[in-house]
Amino acid sequence: MAEICNTLVLFGATGDLARRKLYPALYEMAIDDRLPDKVIGVARRDWDAGQLVENVRDAIEEFSDESIDEATFGQLADVILYASGDYREPETYHEIARQLSREDRVLFYLSVPPSLFETVVGLLAETELAAGSHVVVEKPFGRDLESSRRLNRCLLEHFDEDAIFRIDHFLGKEEVLDLLVFRLANTFLEPAWNRHYIDRVEITMAESFGIEGRGGFYEEVGALRDVVQNHLLQLVSLVAMEPPVSADAESLRDEKVKVLKAIPRISQDQIVCGQYRGYRDEKGVDAESEVETFVAMKFYIDSWRWAGVPFYIRAGKKMATTATEILIEFARPPRLFFARSDAPQPHPNHLIFRTKPGERVSISAEIKEPGEELISRSVDLVYDYDEDREGARDDAYARLLVDALEGDHRLFARADGVEEAWSVFENILDDLGPVYEYQPGSWGPEEADRLIEGPEGWHRPETEE
Ligand code: NAP
Repeated sequence: MAEICNTLVLFGATGDLARRKLYPALYEMAIDDRLPDKVIGVARRDWDAGQLVENVRDAIEEFSDESIDEATFGQLADVILYASGDYREPETYHEIARQLSREDRVLFYLSVPPSLFETVVGLLAETELAAGSHVVVEKPFGRDLESSRRLNRCLLEHFDEDAIFRIDHFLGKEEVLDLLVFRLANTFLEPAWNRHYIDRVEITMAESFGIEGRGGFYEEVGALRDVVQNHLLQLVSLVAMEPPVSADAESLRDEKVKVLKAIPRISQDQIVCGQYRGYRDEKGVDAESEVETFVAMKFYIDSWRWAGVPFYIRAGKKMATTATEILIEFARPPRLFFARSDAPQPHPNHLIFRTKPGERVSISAEIKEPGEELISRSVDLVYDYDEDREGARDDAYARLLVDALEGDHRLFARADGVEEAWSVFENILDDLGPVYEYQPGSWGPEEADRLIEGPEGWHRPETEE
């Protein structure tokens, strides 16, 4: 494990991510007594430390679940410093250096526009700040295989892999860690967790809201780059990986990368894209935009465990509900005398892992229908995580910041991991094929139905709104 850092230098200190996520996370760390000794904010604005502290307070008031306790906030305020300057100028880095002392072991957090990642890394090296330090790189990690390789090359020229933390905040979410534990800590699942007993895996990430005024950002990204290539492929890896030999970062990441390597490159006929009606009227969106706000796909994983099992992914905005669900459909049991005479086929068992909203895991099982007849009916055995979690703090950014400061890589992507994830889509990124219009509030374009096998079609997560 890499060495522990005691100083955080935050590039992007006046930005949106810092306000929404990083300052509330630092406040949680203050509550838990896990603050670094120094937090140096760096941005272009001509502020001083006092102005940054006031903005940090506003951000916590607006975005944190916690209300401000003055003594705790005081602890955070006491460690905050500010360095003003342009990231393209060496003088900015000299100013940071002046605020550092010999004892500081630094974690640089690059919450900056992606076009500046390589500039900042290069200047950290040139001004001798990189040596012996660690670095967190925000997403997106490149926009295709070539750019992710270039960024990796740039980082690895100046930092050891051990000192690099590629963040995907999805991996720090409590729900995602719950999936990892449920998947691997239960003996009853393991013998059935393969192509002999599982008929399909389906992952849905539906959002009932649109792009929320972020047209400029979304036009550059689209649904595939925004959530599928990173977040949803991470979920696929967790569902499909072999049990790692130990819980250390390398063992875990080895197994996840193997899954990505075993996915044959996806082609255009495996994917259907959509765009919600009205997207082109959103602020910052091109009137003739072909950017996808919905994507559905089907693919296989060529491994002993999964060969022949279809994996389906569906993600979209302005969908019928907001829900992220993973559905595992087990093979149907044989038709025995207690199947209902009016049912064409016996029900398969389903395991559904719902991460948002209302986290729960449910297993549909067959029980005897009460009464005289010997027939079966499906019921859901449900465990509700939220009921257990009353009052527990589970902020992904606080967890990931603490992990990065402590040098724990388990929840961060490795160089080969991000490159493999881009490779899966290498053949289609330049041309995703036609983009079909769909109604806001629907489950996406009808054309997506052609991807799915079986009479039941796509699984529809329950609506909770
Ligand atoms: P943002 O609001 O545009 O903030 C950019 C920050 O960088 C500001 O602090 C800005 O300082 C500073 N900056 C930009 N150019 C500079 C320059 N030449 N010299 C000095 N400072 C400069 O961006 P953001 O939304 O916070 O996003 C930051 C990173 O996080 C991006 O990589 C983004 O992809 C990633 N991310 C963001 C979110 C989110 O919800 N916002 C979610 C996931 C990932 P000034 O304000 O002083 O100009």
